[in-house]
Amino acid sequence: MIVQSLKDISLTSDLNFDVVVVGSGPGGSLSGLKAAQQGKKVAILEMGRPLQTKDFVLDEATAYKNLYQEAAGRTSLDGAITILQGRALGGGSTINWTSSFRTPELTLKYWQKYFGLKDLSMEKLLPFFKEAESLIGVKDGEITPNRNNDLLAEGLSKIGAKHGLIKRNVRGCQNLGYCGLGCPVGAKQSALVTSLPMANKLGAEIFCDAVAERFIWKNSRVEALEVSVRGLQNQKYIFKAKTFICAAGAIGSPALLLRSKVADPYETLGKRTFIHPTTISGAIFKEKVEAYYGAPQTVYSDHFLPTKLEEEAAGFKLEVPPIHPLLLATSLPIFGKDHYELMKNLPYIQATIALQRDGFHPESQGGRVILKNGRPFLDYKFTPYMEKAFRQSLLVMGEAQLAAGAYEVMPIHRQGLRVKSLGALLKHVNELSMKALELKVVSAHVMGGCAMGARPQESVTDPSGRFHHLENLVIRDGSLFPTGIGTNPMLSIMGLVGQLSS
Ligand SMILES: Cc1cc2nc3c(=O)[nH]c(=O)nc-3n(C[C@H](O)[C@H](O)[C@H](O)COP(=O)(O)OP(=O)(O)OC[C@H]3O[C@@H](n4cnc5c(N)ncnc54)[C@H](O)[C@@H]3O)c2cc1C
Ligand code: SF4
Repeated sequence: MIVQSLKDISLTSDLNFDVVVVGSGPGGSLSGLKAAQQGKKVAILEMGRPLQTKDFVLDEATAYKNLYQEAAGRTSLDGAITILQGRALGGGSTINWTSSFRTPELTLKYWQKYFGLKDLSMEKLLPFFKEAESLIGVKDGEITPNRNNDLLAEGLSKIGAKHGLIKRNVRGCQNLGYCGLGCPVGAKQSALVTSLPMANKLGAEIFCDAVAERFIWKNSRVEALEVSVRGLQNQKYIFKAKTFICAAGAIGSPALLLRSKVADPYETLGKRTFIHPTTISGAIFKEKVEAYYGAPQTVYSDHFLPTKLEEEAAGFKLEVPPIHPLLLATSLPIFGKDHYELMKNLPYIQATIALQRDGFHPESQGGRVILKNGRPFLDYKFTPYMEKAFRQSLLVMGEAQLAAGAYEVMPIHRQGLRVKSLGALLKHVNELSMKALELKVVSAHVMGGCAMGARPQESVTDPSGRFHHLENLVIRDGSLFPTGIGTNPMLSIMGLVGQLSS
């Protein structure tokens, strides 16, 4: 694949295209591919570095610096939530954990009922899920779960909770466990090894180190896009196109529109940003778990997700994260000797995560993307409704870990203690505050902020993904979701973008 760095392009180059795409994640790269297949002259712009499979080293510090937004140190405005997002060729798909789920039908029905998204039925989306699955090699059963995942399954079985195996988007996976650092053998079928090279072969030009600063628009049309080289804001390139596709991801897309000062009469832009706020429970086993080896996510449970969205409790999906040393060290809100004592146990640690389904209740309306000196921040607040689900999740995860034979379990929390029995866990978790900056909350699933919908009063784009106020600007990424979805988003983004681009 031929990838250019914008810094090597002359400021006087001809930068006229039929279609300019901002962002090379699952949404941007697929929409770029679709446009190239329709014979359009396409440019795909990516603020990340021009790094490909051969450049990936199995080293966390290097990978986070090179492939993640803010070197994996992005947080919510108040610092309470760690937000992991890709800043890479291929976007989040280059560093994600390969879990591939279709959008839950319950979520689609809710979107139809409350947001007027009539075409987003499972029946109409099915061909596009199948197309995306075939493109990125989604199948089940390629890999036997590692011990980290196995212990989740064992614990859930013992407490009578249903669980299943996760389908993954891989071809020839070597079971290394380094998906989050960029797959070094190209087995993960990210956009980097699928849509992007295919689009490139059809003539799409790919520019890295290219930061889209703002759309230049007049009346009802975007006329051009102002772009700078990452780190060199004084050099401005002007890209022209008939159609502009904004696919800079949730946070990135609303931020670009906010910087462009586009019309926003109902102040919907950047609002309804969802994150599946995620709690963590750590467990120490007497046996070696070595959660840094092997495919990161292979077991899940939807047992604690209510099957009625309007029900009282938020509910959560259970999975495990990979546990590499830096990721663990920075996820622990404890310090000094306590931190050291826990890190010493790295090979024996199992961790379970609970991803809360947000967006379906008056007390779960998401956060808001705002700009400070042009830089985006997500302002996302917890509510008592969410805190209730956080507490329940810590109890359920700890109970499953103890049932699987954990020697000690520990809610990941500023005041979190290591406890050895269910009784002690119950007492401890019920005494903990679930407030921001006390409880550790993370997210790798940012969605919304440019919500689609039939009514402009509560959406940013129409049901076709076109921005309400500019006729040649469309959104094609996870920022379109009007709620969280209750499962890992990559395949949902690809199914949706496939349908909207057809
Ligand atoms: C560690 C991790 C693990 C995950 N695991 C899974 C998983 O197992 N399964 C799953 O389904 N999902 C997973 N996800 C989430 C999934 O990867 C994302 O939801 C998905 O990549 C979002 O796709 P997108 O196209 O909306 O945007 P992104 O993938 O975020 O792509 C947007 C791209 O736009 C670029 N960009 C932003 N602003 C600009 C700008 N101004 N100019 C130019 N470029 C810009 C960014 O650098 C980025 O590369 C994970 C995410 C992370 C971080
Ligand atoms: S487990 Fe290893 S080989 Fe398999 S997709 Fe992930 S990084 Fe690649």
